[in-house]
Amino acid sequence: MSFKQFKFTSQIAANISKCGYEQPTPIQEQAMPKVMDGYDLLGLAQTGTGKTAAFALPIIQRLSKEPHGKVRALVVAPTRELAEQINESFQELAKGTGLRTVTVYGGVGKNGQLQKFRQGVEVVIACPGRLLDHLNNHDLNLDKVETLVLDEADQMFDMGFFPDIRRILKHLPRQRQTLLFSATMPADIRKLADDTLTDPVEVRIKLEQPLELISQVLIPVSKRQKATLLIHLLKQTHDGSTLIFSRTKYGAKNLARKLDKAGFRAAALQGNMSQNQRQRTLTGFRDGDFTVLVATDIAARGIDVSRVGQVINFDLPSTAEAYTHRIGRTGRAERSGRAVSFICYDDHAMIKAIERLQGRSIERLTVEGFAMETEAPQKQQRRQAPPRGGAKKKTTTRRPGKQARSGGKGRNTQAKKRPGKSSNKKFDGRRASKKGNIFGLS
Ligand code: AMP
Repeated sequence: MSFKQFKFTSQIAANISKCGYEQPTPIQEQAMPKVMDGYDLLGLAQTGTGKTAAFALPIIQRLSKEPHGKVRALVVAPTRELAEQINESFQELAKGTGLRTVTVYGGVGKNGQLQKFRQGVEVVIACPGRLLDHLNNHDLNLDKVETLVLDEADQMFDMGFFPDIRRILKHLPRQRQTLLFSATMPADIRKLADDTLTDPVEVRIKLEQPLELISQVLIPVSKRQKATLLIHLLKQTHDGSTLIFSRTKYGAKNLARKLDKAGFRAAALQGNMSQNQRQRTLTGFRDGDFTVLVATDIAARGIDVSRVGQVINFDLPSTAEAYTHRIGRTGRAERSGRAVSFICYDDHAMIKAIERLQGRSIERLTVEGFAMETEAPQKQQRRQAPPRGGAKKKTTTRRPGKQARSGGKGRNTQAKKRPGKSSNKKFDGRRASKKGNIFGLS
């Protein structure tokens, strides 16, 4: 299938080729004809599938044909970074059409936004809080909005934005097209969809699609050795850009500092930073000034860096869907990528949930010297103090073949003994059955 069938104006078609898009992604192929026909849409798709262009292109095509000056499309997104990325896509795809866009979010002054409203904009891309602020101050009129996009609705729900969204909806005309995108569809999102969409077309992009391009491995490791293992791995596998996920803001900052000290061009992206710092960090990562970015989930939401070579889950996320979302930052736009996750005793249940969601087991690798210790977590620290300056042992990474299905047998795991299966065997690099692995480690 090609973009030709959508009959975009020659200007938009030229912009599409300039972006390097040769053919529509599955979500574009399925959603765009319906959106162009004016249907409401419920899109189950995550970042990395090309969903932004799937809603931006039909909007640009329609808006660029008619007179400008009023806000005719509103995109609501959970984070400033995502709002900026959506805006970037609009800017690139609408170049030369005369359409004007503005991003609206907190943490920056209002004047720039007010000035753009006064000059006239057709597309507003906004985070809920600041948008509501402007609406309450009558800075902005949304009664000519024809299309509303709610992007990453599940994330907006997690961040507590639904009451604000319901307030925003009151400022919009009832007669409009609404497009709602979400990576997951828990009951609250389904309810919002029922309340806001009329006879929607549902497009579901299966989680497996982006995952096929991503090689995934799990590395069992004790908590105290994670940082040393990370440095060890990065020394051997870091050949492009690496996105590392940390559970906490403090952890992200601390880890970035350690990596920096170890000689990597590393930076942290976490919620305590000012908008300017965040933007600078993201641009630095995109441009290659930093090649390692340590981020928390919320700060990283919507990061669109197309050349992330590998994602490392230094800490596992709290849901299986979030795992899929994280690793989808690599292997984007049909490039291959890899995802490495460090797993500890208490991650066993989460690994099970991730494997259940994917309907397959994920390969375990052991790195000699870093295998998860077999003792209960409480005893680890007392008995085995970390060697100063990291692991002294020569370390090698090996594949334990098909044997490993469980994360270990510490007190906190739910691993049960299953005779005849190797799944409960301790991860021990020295016992590993097969050499070599996708990371080219030896
Ligand atoms: P998104 O899911 O909207 O965040 O898009 C993920 C990445 O895919 C972005 O870097 C887009 O520029 C890129 N992309 C979107 N559509 C296409 C396409 N048809 N062909 C190749 N890349 C695309």
